[in-house]
Amino acid sequence: MDTTTIVVVIAVAVIGAVVVVTLVLRGRAGSPSLPGGSPTAGVGRGQGSLGASLRQVLGSGVGEQTWADLEEAMLAADVGVDASAAIVRSVRSARPETAEQAREQLARQLRLELGAEARELHLVGDPSVILVVGVNGTGKTTTIAKLAARLEGEGKKVILAAADTFRAAAGAQLQTWGDRLGVDVVGGQEGGDPASVAFDAISSARAKGVDVVIVDTAGRLHAKKNLMAEMSKIHRVAAGTRGAVDEVLLVLDATAGQNGITQVREFSEAVPVSGIVLTKLDGTAKGGIVIAIERQLGVPVKLVGVGEGIDDLVPFDPDRFVDELLEG
Ligand code: GDP
Repeated sequence: MDTTTIVVVIAVAVIGAVVVVTLVLRGRAGSPSLPGGSPTAGVGRGQGSLGASLRQVLGSGVGEQTWADLEEAMLAADVGVDASAAIVRSVRSARPETAEQAREQLARQLRLELGAEARELHLVGDPSVILVVGVNGTGKTTTIAKLAARLEGEGKKVILAAADTFRAAAGAQLQTWGDRLGVDVVGGQEGGDPASVAFDAISSARAKGVDVVIVDTAGRLHAKKNLMAEMSKIHRVAAGTRGAVDEVLLVLDATAGQNGITQVREFSEAVPVSGIVLTKLDGTAKGGIVIAIERQLGVPVKLVGVGEGIDDLVPFDPDRFVDELLEG
């Protein structure tokens, strides 16, 4: 080899290496961070999981009893009556002959069920406003902190509005998170008007050039009428200051099962829920509630909580969810 050839070979090798490294880094930056390597933290694993039941149901091949057993397994995994029946019907109508074919058909059907929804947060306002609603104890405050950390990580500036003025502890808890994350928290007097807290936070965000306002709200379901009137007012005021609210996220506890459906219905009567954050998915072997919610109510699950840590909020990934649900 002469010197020119050696120089060309080295140059090609160096350029190749740079291209490979760039592609790898880009791939990393583009993919959502998935703590623990799993978006659902083992939703399909363990006793009582759909995956485990499925192994039993399909263990002896496909026969007449398979369909009743499959429907029962789906009900036990919180998929819900209508969705379970419809999904089993469509799997059956494909006439799978082997357990593997039935499993594949089921996976295909579940993906279809979850396929059509837009799951990105739609944040276009200046500032954008995210109203977070849900029953106390579902993980609302923790979710707000996780979401703030996530958005700040994307380079957005965030303000939190402590509009649950009913419980002093709620404001204090949000303030603690704010201090920890270095994010401003706008609060109000205990017993004060929650809508005015939201209004103040949005005004403050506008004055300071903040990108996103996340509004925490009360979740005392036993005072349902008042609560719902309060939610509507916060939404109206928040939307009124700038035309619209970007997202109304309802926080649901995955371990609450079918109760979640009722909560979506009730909150939807007061505010236009645009997405679900399903928390504590790490604490249940079921998770079929995702399918029940989307099929019955048409509200997309946008984010899932998979632990108590600040990074444990991830975008909902239907393909991986179905894989894990059926894995067992
Ligand atoms: P809030 O009353 O709805 O505001 O609920 P909190 O945010 O105070 O959360 C209630 C409890 O649930 C706390 O102990 C949280 O750490 C816990 N929590 C919240 N989200 C998750 C989650 O995704 N997984 C687990 N395992 N725990 C969670």
